[in-house]
Amino acid sequence: MIRTGNGFDVHAFAENRKLFLCGTEIPCDEGLLGHSDADVAVHALIDAILGALALGDIGMWFPDHDDAYLDIDSMILLEKVLADPRVAAWKILNCDLTIIAQKPKLGAYREAMRRNLAEYMKLAVDQISVKFTTTEHLGFTGRGEGIATIASVTLEK
Ligand code: MG
Repeated sequence: MIRTGNGFDVHAFAENRKLFLCGTEIPCDEGLLGHSDADVAVHALIDAILGALALGDIGMWFPDHDDAYLDIDSMILLEKVLADPRVAAWKILNCDLTIIAQKPKLGAYREAMRRNLAEYMKLAVDQISVKFTTTEHLGFTGRGEGIATIASVTLEK
């Protein structure tokens, strides 16, 4: 059996926050606002995994009104999802992320992000694609108001 899922997430920039993408801290004058560490890339990835297996969404699993998840490292959320027996029964074949950001420049961090996800997901780096795009200054990402991510995942059992 093969299943595929997609995920999408957005977080707004805010001052006095650190920026984390794929569990990697990125130097930036602003970070992303959120209940957790606001790692928009990992949130989209989690939703893609949950979507593939029709297990709901990240908000159902980790409610943003639950203090247990306040400022939590989103990689821990990813680990919790992967450890669930309903997910662990499947083998992840590949992940493909598109991080939509006008700023900061992210290309230099691509390999660190891939390695980080590979380590946490116990996958090979070549099973993980991390892509970046701007929106040519259009829309909220283009105005530098926040970062969005689209993720796709394929799993096999
Ligand atoms: Mg989120």
